[in-house]
Amino acid sequence: MTLTKDQLLAMQDQYVLKTYSRDTIMTRGEGSYLWDIDGKRYLDFAMGISVCNLGHCHPAVTKAICEQAAKLVHVSNLYQNENQPQLAKIIAEASFGGKVFFANSGAEANEGLIKFARKWGSRNGGRYEIICMNNSFHGRTLATLAATGRSKYRDGFQPDVQGFVFADFNDLDSIRAKIGPKTVAVLIEPVQGEGGIIPADKAFMTALRQLCDEHQLLLLLDEVQCGMGRTGKYFAYQHYGFAPDGMSMAKALGNGLPMGAFTVQQKYHDVLPPGTHASTFGGTALACAAGIAVFQTIAHEKLLDNVQAMSDYFFGELRALQAKYPVIKTVRGIGLMVGADVGDKQAAILAGCRELGLLALPAGEGILRMLPPLNVSKGQIDDACAILDKVLARL
Ligand SMILES: *Cc1c(COP(=O)(O)O)cnc(C)c1O
Repeated sequence: MTLTKDQLLAMQDQYVLKTYSRDTIMTRGEGSYLWDIDGKRYLDFAMGISVCNLGHCHPAVTKAICEQAAKLVHVSNLYQNENQPQLAKIIAEASFGGKVFFANSGAEANEGLIKFARKWGSRNGGRYEIICMNNSFHGRTLATLAATGRSKYRDGFQPDVQGFVFADFNDLDSIRAKIGPKTVAVLIEPVQGEGGIIPADKAFMTALRQLCDEHQLLLLLDEVQCGMGRTGKYFAYQHYGFAPDGMSMAKALGNGLPMGAFTVQQKYHDVLPPGTHASTFGGTALACAAGIAVFQTIAHEKLLDNVQAMSDYFFGELRALQAKYPVIKTVRGIGLMVGADVGDKQAAILAGCRELGLLALPAGEGILRMLPPLNVSKGQIDDACAILDKVLARL
């Protein structure tokens, strides 16, 4: 039975909690494009919030999912499946050779990383406090909310989970001032995503690594949004020349199949022994089949090179628009994680783009966020910039 648009909207209205102010119904995706229920086509520079990084319904991922779905979907982690160790090895080889725990979402991956830090701290001086950054975002579960440095997300959900303190991003002195006898770790996004596409300075991150070493603190990175090739490296920390103690990832890991993971250095292999942490759905045969296909595709299609090339081109075009339209105050970001500060014109620009067939995202205060797929073409960037040009011209 095919339902009409009005029937679907009415059903959604009646039966789904309105925790989102949702846009129209999307029915089909292919590569960089999405189609809504009215048949309108959009150039998608939102990509499900940096989830479908290979484009919608990438054939290699679709094939892997379909084949695995017909063979074995789930056995729980009481048994092993064939795909989980293979994906863990791929993640280790693409990062710092650590060990991996599989989860289902970004929040759950961060939650695991927080538990890992507390478990380690419980054996290393009874420490549990984690220094987090103002303006950060780590998820919507109670602990990841408590770690999130934007209080509006916490309003009404108090009491907050304890053990999190806040310092300023890109400000080492501010972090140093928060270190106390109970401090166990620093948790930070290498590029703040929801906060407004703000990359951490390399000098700051290098000094932060040293600070953590001096005080025996774990350096934990949230790469849920900036990982998986988004910045032109598999993981954003690889721009710095050192590795963290632990790192979370999620969004693009399954190109749309829900999955998350965190990985820690091999030396921490015994911090979470059997029974201390678990997830029924974590690392299913199906999700891991998608994850393997994602990494294989990034390598096979040399997408990290494309990110670098298209990033240079996109930033060049955006700076030209900035020169033409003073409403764009700054253009910033790294790789294909792109932000433009447009202040109070954010909503108007997003709506204008949408009307002309370009999907982008808000972030932070007044930031226009664009997250094109890693295989975006020059022509698609031209199309996006032409739409932006039109929208800015008629503001
Ligand atoms: C999206 C995001 C999360 C939360 O991921 P979910 O899958 O929505 O739980 C956590 N951290 C960062 C940096 C994110 O961008």
